[in-house]
Amino acid sequence: MNGLVAADLVVTGTGTPAGPGWVEFAGGRVTGTGTGNPPREPDRLAAVVVPGFVDVHCHGGGGASFGAAPDASARAAAFHAAHGSTTVLASLVTRSPDDLAGAVRALGPLVDDGVVAGVHLEGPWLAASRCGAHDPGLLRDPDPAEIDPLLRTGTIAMVTLAPELPGGLDAISRVAASGAVAAVGHTAAGYDLTRRALDAGARAGTHLFNAMGPVHHRDPGPVAALLADPRTVVELITDGVHVHPALWDIVGRAAADRVAAVTDAMAAAGMPDGGYRLGDLDVQVTDGVARLPDGTIAGSTATADVLFRNVIAAHPGSRPEALDRAVAWTSTTPAALLGREDIGRLQPGSRADVVLLDADLGIETVLRAGVVVPPGGPASG
Ligand SMILES: [Zn+2]
Repeated sequence: MNGLVAADLVVTGTGTPAGPGWVEFAGGRVTGTGTGNPPREPDRLAAVVVPGFVDVHCHGGGGASFGAAPDASARAAAFHAAHGSTTVLASLVTRSPDDLAGAVRALGPLVDDGVVAGVHLEGPWLAASRCGAHDPGLLRDPDPAEIDPLLRTGTIAMVTLAPELPGGLDAISRVAASGAVAAVGHTAAGYDLTRRALDAGARAGTHLFNAMGPVHHRDPGPVAALLADPRTVVELITDGVHVHPALWDIVGRAAADRVAAVTDAMAAAGMPDGGYRLGDLDVQVTDGVARLPDGTIAGSTATADVLFRNVIAAHPGSRPEALDRAVAWTSTTPAALLGREDIGRLQPGSRADVVLLDADLGIETVLRAGVVVPPGGPASG
């Protein structure tokens, strides 16, 4: 719980330029940070130190899915924690009303214990034409009779929905009023309707570009509306599969501090190629890419440390600039989206969530609230 970490490069996420420095913590909280030589002999040394990653879109990993089985949900959280995600939302894909309510109920104690930071409902209120790897037969219109009891559990941190559905804008208002993040996604909405969704309280775009209309110069679509709105955080799956890296920098320039890298990982993350399940659908993983039988990409097999390295590798600028962007995308911005001031940066009072990396940016040690996270399976990708 107590300790002192020193590194050649410390990136705090607070605006302090990356450089040699240290982080001290006690009782699971950061008690001090500084540049240059540490005030005493450090307990741990690393090449690079960054805040723990915050993944707001994650369905599972290490062979386990978030859902009705608490032990599987805990395994998925532990797998991602070992890869640096000291905070994850448990994302649930479209399920039947009973299955969805059951999964939310089962995840409640894990939210209370801080194993996961909340539940992200991705569906069932999604556009059939943009359903991706969601069972189209289980999609439905948002109905307060289903939404309100789910929101009242207090475990819902985020809801992805399509605003064009009947009741969609009202549902966004309800989600926002509950304190959860309403996110526009899996949607056939155009530019104007997306703007109305943001005015109704939506504050995020779920996996920008994926499962929404493209940018067209006479029909700019949801992507342009989300990028242009200074209130809005856009998720970006920087696994190198979902969105071409050429677009990452364009997004980064358009929405500087408003990008959250997300894994959208499913159970196969960290596991060999083969057959897996995502919700009620069969998924085949080949060369680390998860697809439905019809070829639709079905989530990722990435972990947050992979996203982090990818963002740095694709950055056209200097190493310190790349590190700043990667920390913003993987920690600071998603933490801010969740309204969490205690995570996402290394500053006095923050939870001591610290990722120690080697010179190649591979995970050396992960501390969560100052405690070493047991190592997990191999990173994929
Ligand atoms: Zn999705």
